[in-house]
Amino acid sequence: MCAVTFTTWGGTFTATPARRAAPRDEAELSALVARAAAEGLRVRAVGAGHSFTDAAVTDGLLLGLDHLSGVESVERTPDGALVTVGAGTRLHELNALLRERGLAMRNLGDIDRQSVAGAISTGTHGTGARLGGLATQVRGVRVVVGDGTVRAVSDADAPGSPERELFEVARLGLGSVGILSAVTLDVVPAYLLRSTERVRPWSEVVDGVDALFDGHHRMDAYWFPGTDRMLTWTHDVVDHAGTAAYEASRRGVGGALRRAGHAARSLLDEEVLANGALGAIMQVAAAAPRTVPRLNALSAAVLGDRTHVAPSDRVMVTRRRVRFVEMEYALPRAELAGVLTELSGWLAASGELVPFPVEVRCTAPDDVWLSTARGRASAYVAVHQYHRMPYRRYFDAAEKIFVAAGGRPHWGKLHTRTAADLAEHYPLDDVARVRSVVDPGGVFRNAYVDRVLGTA
Ligand SMILES: Cc1cc2nc3c(=O)[nH]c(=O)nc-3n(C[C@H](O)[C@H](O)[C@H](O)COP(=O)(O)OP(=O)(O)OC[C@H]3O[C@@H](n4cnc5c(N)ncnc54)[C@H](O)[C@@H]3O)c2cc1C
Repeated sequence: MCAVTFTTWGGTFTATPARRAAPRDEAELSALVARAAAEGLRVRAVGAGHSFTDAAVTDGLLLGLDHLSGVESVERTPDGALVTVGAGTRLHELNALLRERGLAMRNLGDIDRQSVAGAISTGTHGTGARLGGLATQVRGVRVVVGDGTVRAVSDADAPGSPERELFEVARLGLGSVGILSAVTLDVVPAYLLRSTERVRPWSEVVDGVDALFDGHHRMDAYWFPGTDRMLTWTHDVVDHAGTAAYEASRRGVGGALRRAGHAARSLLDEEVLANGALGAIMQVAAAAPRTVPRLNALSAAVLGDRTHVAPSDRVMVTRRRVRFVEMEYALPRAELAGVLTELSGWLAASGELVPFPVEVRCTAPDDVWLSTARGRASAYVAVHQYHRMPYRRYFDAAEKIFVAAGGRPHWGKLHTRTAADLAEHYPLDDVARVRSVVDPGGVFRNAYVDRVLGTA
């Protein structure tokens, strides 16, 4: 154990916990929580530290669950499998472990560096009108609650029962009801995706966004502010015949399935979002902000039409090496076009210089208590800024537009909402009731949980 400063990936928050620990197994995790509770020390877990909010920050005991990693069990089902993994498993490790077993996640976000527990706890999502966020793929969890006992709860527990309610907050609840030690995921047989990148006029995307969302398995759109073009990135599941043809072609070039990862990197990923070119562009932008409009035109100009096929996880996931800060809101889908138009209007009128793209995604409605897509088909708009450039004026303006449209902030990305603001969107009284039962001493509280869920 040692007291070491912790800083989030985006550099947004730094904390110095009183202690850090990395339990070797669930029994040690349980003992650590019980001891901290007895000492009156607060406890948080940190995954990959990829939240932009202070969700994982504590001045008490900070737990890293990297040792609670890997596959515990695989139960085959007619549709795929229920796979139980250690809560600290990183998504890239999970994807590799699933691939070895002929399985895959139904949906993923943009990157795979997060831990399973961290990703589900903040409502991490990908895109797809018929696909839910990662927490919708969780069937059960084991969670160490406030007195150090381990509780196994799942969606098989009776609706309305204390177990089922604990499951609801444990699978997406910012670690407010305890530390997850294991997560059971509902996964599907491995599949291929065809990725098509297309540059389209801005208005074609904004006016036709419903058709784009509904017409594809997944759809992402990127817009460099100030330009009148958008890159759409559509993913469609490859059918049996296409899969056979793909495999034959890969065998034909020497078992190059192994090289699919490289082939899958999209042009957007390779040339714009991840590589050194973007890093260089950002440095110029930070040093000489007036060059941003020309830089955005340049970034948009390297985008072009492209199609490729690869295993699903390699198509969905990209690399993000250039640091940024981000705010993202979930909106009722019908609000999307109006919000993008307003945002574009504000950017033009304010002259704000933003060299990072705005990202647009969607998910299906779900019934997870604290999900940003709870009860409504959702569109997501994310605004980014290079981490060395000012972002507050831009994010404040964007947030005003998002909130006016009924938006719900991503729990892991920057926002200013409080429990009082969020009560209209979520059953916060039910969440408070569950927290008070399993954590009466408030062991799992921190400033962020207090702000967004209340001080139950
Ligand atoms: C480059 C980048 C790309 C991103 N892309 C996406 C995206 O495509 N889609 C999206 O929705 N989000 C995205 N995010 C946000 C990110 O997925 C979430 O913030 C996620 O929570 C990060 O996971 P983590 O493992 O780093 O968790 P952390 O940030 O370390 O922790 C998040 C929360 O989970 C809690 N927690 C961690 N482990 C446990 C545990 N074992 N038990 C209980 N609670 C625990 C923490 O206490 C904290 O409250 C991105 C972030 C970055 C930096």
